[in-house]
Amino acid sequence: MSREHIGSLSPIIRRIRLQLLCIRAVNRLYDRWPTIGILRHLRASVKPPLIRRPPNAEAYRSKLDSLMSDGLENVGCYMCGNKKATPVGSKEGLSIVRCNDCALLYVSPRIPERRLAELYDSSYWFERMQVHGYASILERVTWDYWDAFDRIREIREFRTQGRFLDIGCSNGALVLRASQEGFCAFGYELDQFIAMIAGRISGRPVFTSDPLLLEEGESLDGGWDVISMYDVFEHFYNPRRELSRVRRVLRQKGLIVLETFRTDPPSFSEDPIKHEDTKPAEHIYMYQERHLEELFVAARFRILSRRYPAGPGHSRIRYYLEPA
Ligand SMILES: [Zn+2]
Repeated sequence: MSREHIGSLSPIIRRIRLQLLCIRAVNRLYDRWPTIGILRHLRASVKPPLIRRPPNAEAYRSKLDSLMSDGLENVGCYMCGNKKATPVGSKEGLSIVRCNDCALLYVSPRIPERRLAELYDSSYWFERMQVHGYASILERVTWDYWDAFDRIREIREFRTQGRFLDIGCSNGALVLRASQEGFCAFGYELDQFIAMIAGRISGRPVFTSDPLLLEEGESLDGGWDVISMYDVFEHFYNPRRELSRVRRVLRQKGLIVLETFRTDPPSFSEDPIKHEDTKPAEHIYMYQERHLEELFVAARFRILSRRYPAGPGHSRIRYYLEPA
């Protein structure tokens, strides 16, 4: 699916929106009368499955070859600057090393930053997902929307209104849910076609030009109250720069929600190459908790809450941060 298939998109989006209406109606009934057993069953019955398929390494191979053909770049450790590292192994033709000083896992040599617009174009959301065995961006809207009920419910423990920006908003399911819960919600996606899909699904503005690209001292209508980044941080080439930009456009009482993975649990450290979060074309740094928190503190954030949404033994980690 790409720009050429735009004509066939409308019936698909209409059908998805209808499914979302149904999910929302059932959840609203359940929220109102949670003790009625039949509503609990009804709610469980409209929960969409997260589609998984056997991974298909060939689906994206020619694109990956092209991205890797143009001079991979050798880098040192992002955290401590040390250039001495120990090889850990390779995946999809890219090498992963461990810093001899601070133990950060990172990709070197790696795809250069100037190719990122191509890496994250619409083929990422369709062909690239097949490589990992994931559903495409359209197939997973209903699942993402269901998940967004829990995500927004949790965010509302900290903030209940204001300007909300979802960076890396994918199909826009979270933007839709945030706006339904009273936030003035916006999305941001790199690719225009994907942003168009997110805009159609959420009914909300989705930026493709970077809403954080502000000069020092400039403000964007006074900034943002909530900025969410789910599965985004691990893709950043310069996380210090991104955190400082986010810090600058966040209001003084603002909130950052940042979910990523960490390499601390044995499920990761025992075999980093095999782990499903090890995707060296995309995840160029693989942090431990202490690396992440060192970056947050250096960017003048205070950690409000640290959570493990898939359990303490799982690599998933979710932070709530506010300006220090
Ligand atoms: Zn290091």
